[in-house]
Amino acid sequence: MVSPSPTAREEFVSSLENLFTISPDDIKAIVQDFHGEMRRGLSGHQSSLKMIPSFVDRPRGDEKGTFIALDLGGTNFRVLAVVLDGKGNESVPAVSTYAIPEKEMKGTGTELFDFIARCIDSFLTENAIDRKNVYNLAFTFSFPVAQTGIAAGTLIVWTKGFTATGVEGEDVVALLNDALRRRNICCINVTALANDTVGTLAARSYGDPTCDMGVILGTGTNGCYREKISNIPKLKGHDPDEYMIVNMEWGNFDKLRRTRYDKQVDESSLNPGAMFLEKMVSGMYLGELARLIIMDLIERGLLFLNESTAAGNFGEKDSLKTQYMSLIAGDATADLGETATFLNNKGITNTALRDRILLKRFCQIVSARSARLGAAAISAVVTWMDPGLNERHTVAVDGSLFEKYPGFEDEMKKVFKELFGGSAGRITLAHSKDGSGKGAAIIAAAAASKK
Ligand code: ADP
Ligand code: MG
Repeated sequence: MVSPSPTAREEFVSSLENLFTISPDDIKAIVQDFHGEMRRGLSGHQSSLKMIPSFVDRPRGDEKGTFIALDLGGTNFRVLAVVLDGKGNESVPAVSTYAIPEKEMKGTGTELFDFIARCIDSFLTENAIDRKNVYNLAFTFSFPVAQTGIAAGTLIVWTKGFTATGVEGEDVVALLNDALRRRNICCINVTALANDTVGTLAARSYGDPTCDMGVILGTGTNGCYREKISNIPKLKGHDPDEYMIVNMEWGNFDKLRRTRYDKQVDESSLNPGAMFLEKMVSGMYLGELARLIIMDLIERGLLFLNESTAAGNFGEKDSLKTQYMSLIAGDATADLGETATFLNNKGITNTALRDRILLKRFCQIVSARSARLGAAAISAVVTWMDPGLNERHTVAVDGSLFEKYPGFEDEMKKVFKELFGGSAGRITLAHSKDGSGKGAAIIAAAAASKK
């Protein structure tokens, strides 16, 4: 086995570290740029932040009833039954998760919505739900949607690997209703359409009045917050003194310093030229970023210099999943044995310990940048709402990246400390598991109680 030159390796690694570092000054600049883009988006001017009004405010906490909720917007599709007790507590007596087949994600819209209707049908049957009653359904659809009312909105553009034809520009509630009709499901009334961030905020604030922000860190990333309507000049015909949740669609934020690896990820994605922040932060892309760095090192002869490398499948796009980065990042064995096993399974055998250490360091470099950018976005929104950070702000966060990546949350909190010092404790990150589905039910309940 040939050993790479330790200095060449070290030099390259530290150059990469510099490339990926987000300093406190960088974060301050990002916060400023966020504010500019927010302002433009709220006014209806050209901006990378769409700032979409959701037509709902956060719930009061006394919403009641039983609802069916759908959660579509990433890796899995879920159907839930949600019961709200009217006292800020919710329970989920039934939930089914369905993996979305590639063929439905990338076929026609009719096929995708027929798949959704099929899942609802089997959910009703499996849970022996009486089809003689009528159920209000809340639809969490987590893509950029131009919302036109509580239960209406058109898809602006697909993200996160979806390309189903005939959906962009259409009202997704109408498409869902058509599919339900095609399958003869008559016991469902779609009463709310929500984005997952908005659902997450609603779910947490149902029992916690300090919650004024919702964030997703999963397959994709996005944020929403509570805005005074007088600060949304593009929204006409609403009481300026009231509040509305605004879905920022922050995954598309683009005032960012991108590396050559980020550009590669973007160019080989299904939506090149868009969603730059999402492609630097979210679970769908982090593994691929780390893989491109590793491939670069292998090609430069700085990593895995042994005979088995060629047999590994590291050369294939998306062969390193973000969950494996989690595994490597969390490998606490002295010889990084879990990482060795993972690499063995990839066909890369007999790796040197120093190579595994380096691999772990890259996962760290990529995930730390992600966490710091996520925290920068949150800091921007919190300081937009409350420049002096005088109040407490609970941020409801949902998504497997936040939940499962070792050290992710700690890295985010470090940023709040750097920016806000002793006031950092006024920002609480609250994991809101499955908040997106529950929250949509709360929104449906609030809509029903208004009528
Ligand atoms: P969704 O965003 O689709 O609603 P999740 O919040 O569960 O669903 O996010 C799923 C994404 O999270 C996966 O696509 C993957 O990128 C990432 N992920 C899943 N498991 C882990 C893990 N153990 N560590 C880090 N990221 C993970
Ligand atoms: Mg989700």
